[in-house]
Amino acid sequence: MYGEFDLTIPKTLQEAVKSLTAGGKRAVPLAGGTNVLVDVRSQRLAPERIVDLGRIGGLRGITVDGGRVTLGPRTTVSDLLASEEIAATAPALVESARVFAGQMVRNTATVAGNIACGSPAADLVPPLLALDAEVTLTGTTGSRTLALCDFYTGYKSDQRAPGELITAIGWPVPAKGSFGSFYKLARRKGDAITVVGVAVGLGLKGGRCVGVRIALGSVAPTPMRARKAEGLLEGEAPVPERIARAALAAAQECSPIDDVRATGEYRRKMVEVLVARLVNNAVQTG
Ligand SMILES: Cc1cc2nc3c(=O)[nH]c(=O)nc-3n(C[C@H](O)[C@H](O)[C@H](O)COP(=O)(O)OP(=O)(O)OC[C@H]3O[C@@H](n4cnc5c(N)ncnc54)[C@H](O)[C@@H]3O)c2cc1C
Repeated sequence: MYGEFDLTIPKTLQEAVKSLTAGGKRAVPLAGGTNVLVDVRSQRLAPERIVDLGRIGGLRGITVDGGRVTLGPRTTVSDLLASEEIAATAPALVESARVFAGQMVRNTATVAGNIACGSPAADLVPPLLALDAEVTLTGTTGSRTLALCDFYTGYKSDQRAPGELITAIGWPVPAKGSFGSFYKLARRKGDAITVVGVAVGLGLKGGRCVGVRIALGSVAPTPMRARKAEGLLEGEAPVPERIARAALAAAQECSPIDDVRATGEYRRKMVEVLVARLVNNAVQTG
């Protein structure tokens, strides 16, 4: 059953951020509702006010301009799949969108909702980390932009001040010839929570790896960059021993837990296997 709450449906961003802080009420923004409504119904979340962002213009869409891709926060997973710009500039994000939930959820689930839900298993986040994405936050006093890799502060906690909304997600268009890929390991193909997610982005220049990004999901309190693994490959020739060392480093720097879907030990091993596989694919493609 749903508890009682006020429902506010603002028409502007300014009204929305005001509603989120007005009257000292426990307020939550609502985008696609695929997390919020499930959590309210199961009473994991008991808001006093829900602020529906659905009537505010200009929050949904994809633009590519001046070498940057920008997503409105209410851009849905289906929007990503339908976009030629995303197909051309962010293949790992497309791979992640393809294995995201089922069609009905993809039609309503938004990119900002996926980032803000704070789940370590949020599938869009590893590809966005591998793209060096930034998020813009807007509150009553203005906007600020920070790197997505600095956004999370711990399990289900992040840098948002009370009332702040994610109002854009952006990243530089990757250099021509860069490789991007995402793999979701789950207990079944459709509609499953990720056991291990791995995104890899890299380029090859003169036979050496450049711009190496390795991001992991479901193996730490938050989605994370595997920076030691990245460092072992950056500027190096991608010979098999080097790739194996980097994959092992990624497995060592994550901190997976045991749960109903898999043991921590299995997850760690799969990080090693999948990082090596995706980097090898990149090298063979490049
Ligand atoms: C059947 C089912 C299958 C699912 N499968 C997957 C899956 O395969 N992969 C996956 O990653 N997730 C999955 N999910 C979870 C969910 O669909 C995603 O996390 C989705 O992206 C959430 O987006 P939303 O727009 O529905 O967010 P909402 O539920 O509206 O909001 C989620 C959180 O984000 C906050 N929020 C929303 N918009 C903003 C904003 N602009 N600024 C600040 N905070 C904001 C809300 O307050 C809330 O805390 C699934 C859910 C269901 C019910």
